[in-house]
Amino acid sequence: MRKVALSVAVSLSVLAASPAFCEEPAAPEASAETAPPKLILAISIDQFSADLFAQYRQTYTGGMKRLANGVVFPSGYQGHAATETCPGHSTIMTGSNPARTGIIANDWVDQGAARADKVIYCAEDETQPGTDHGNYVESAGHLLVPTLGERLQKVSPASRNVAVSGKDRAALMMGGNTVDAIYFWKKGQFATLKGRTIEPGVAKLNAELKPVFAAGAPAGMPVPESCAHLDRTVPVKGGGTVGSYHFNRPGGNDGAFRASPALDSWTVKVAEQVIDDMKLGQGKATDVLSLGLSANDYIGHAFGTEGVEMCVQQNALDQALGGLFAFLDAKGIDYMVMLTADHGGHDLPERIDMQADPAASRIDPTLNADDIGATVVADLGLPADSKPLLARGPIGDYYLNRALPDDVKDKVRADAMERLSAFPQVAAVFDARDLARRPLPTGPVEEWTLEDRARASFYAPRSGDIIVLLKKAVTPIAHPGPGYVATHGSPYDYDRRVPILFWRKGLVQFEQPLSVRTVDIEPTLAPFVGVTIPADQIDGRCLDLDAGPGSTCPAQN
Ligand code: ZN
Repeated sequence: MRKVALSVAVSLSVLAASPAFCEEPAAPEASAETAPPKLILAISIDQFSADLFAQYRQTYTGGMKRLANGVVFPSGYQGHAATETCPGHSTIMTGSNPARTGIIANDWVDQGAARADKVIYCAEDETQPGTDHGNYVESAGHLLVPTLGERLQKVSPASRNVAVSGKDRAALMMGGNTVDAIYFWKKGQFATLKGRTIEPGVAKLNAELKPVFAAGAPAGMPVPESCAHLDRTVPVKGGGTVGSYHFNRPGGNDGAFRASPALDSWTVKVAEQVIDDMKLGQGKATDVLSLGLSANDYIGHAFGTEGVEMCVQQNALDQALGGLFAFLDAKGIDYMVMLTADHGGHDLPERIDMQADPAASRIDPTLNADDIGATVVADLGLPADSKPLLARGPIGDYYLNRALPDDVKDKVRADAMERLSAFPQVAAVFDARDLARRPLPTGPVEEWTLEDRARASFYAPRSGDIIVLLKKAVTPIAHPGPGYVATHGSPYDYDRRVPILFWRKGLVQFEQPLSVRTVDIEPTLAPFVGVTIPADQIDGRCLDLDAGPGSTCPAQN
């Protein structure tokens, strides 16, 4: 395995005493720290925007504080337009844009699918008999590229590749197709893939969780002093309020459990159990553990990002990670942590409006495939039941009904694009044929055009025929309801920009505010564990984590 050089801290007094301080420094001596770490702990916090990290950074005292004092890239980017969970997680451990991973959205339409349900979930195997979009078999089969854990297994067969998450798609997209163990939350407990057994340790945890889940938390959670100023009710359009909920959740309610810090704390318990059961990080070879903490996203969707709920969650997340790191420290494991997010997020328009941006709005409820399809039918004089447009939501991919003759399809495309473009809330409407001809974007990710961003999550066999992007601060939820008042999914920085943090004992801390990308994570970690990745197989680059003149990247970088 390739040895990785880490810089040696040089004290100022040594520099001051040195008469030839501009000479080439001596090569740092090899030490135990140059050996590969025994465990790569790759953490994704769902919907953890760079804005949240900046907002809470000064308040962290636990695990997040440790990471904030490691190597910090505050402007990491999920560069693509489709800032959803599945595409975002598909970039983190593969070094690749969704255009290459094939994970263009959480769901897409496949009119050629053999089963009656033509809506495909990103992390399912739709060829399994008896399945549909609401009752699927979990699989990473749609992920077209290997993950770091899979690449490591190829060169180091003793290495284990494990994933644990609050969401199946997070675990599957970070772990990939060949995982040695995988657990994810499913209907009140932690489950694994079809045909696999839940190991006794995790089964015991599920048994302990059962009464906790059933009892709920009638007393709620204490509000830390640093959150008290946010504890204020905000009315939501159509009824209901957010902003003053203290997680006093009802018993046996899956949605309420998921949208609370309890989901993360139990996910961490499962991760610790798996570390113990499999002795991860305690063998001869390096293991990879991907950990997806999902409560942040459910809380953001249910209560927005700027209320007391997110503040309590940030505090709990910080403590949960602190506990996990202490657990690893106590075992003496040499571990390396990477933490990032699948996408960012922003607040609900009702509170944004109150807080200095009255332009924030909810999407026009007539902006959807059915209503626009009906207009197109009228415009072109098509049969009333011809359903010319199919889509999974108001934004992103719109598909032309493949049952239409080609000449009609062209007319539908042209008319639908015109109708979509006429909505004042629409920023851009792209023809898939134009995106397909476009090269993948390069250069500073924050300067990419909207078309560049759409291209980065475009994969012709799965993407729509028309791609629709909204203007800034338009929330694509026309009718908010319990659990869903705010969201992400836009091509703007509040949804694209995420922190990327690295920490390992002995790694000298530094901060690099220039933009980097989540596709840079895999090639950055790879040299630490002896994995070589040909540059043409990925979209990212190795980030040098050595604070000094040494480099943690291969020479060709
Ligand atoms: Zn997500």
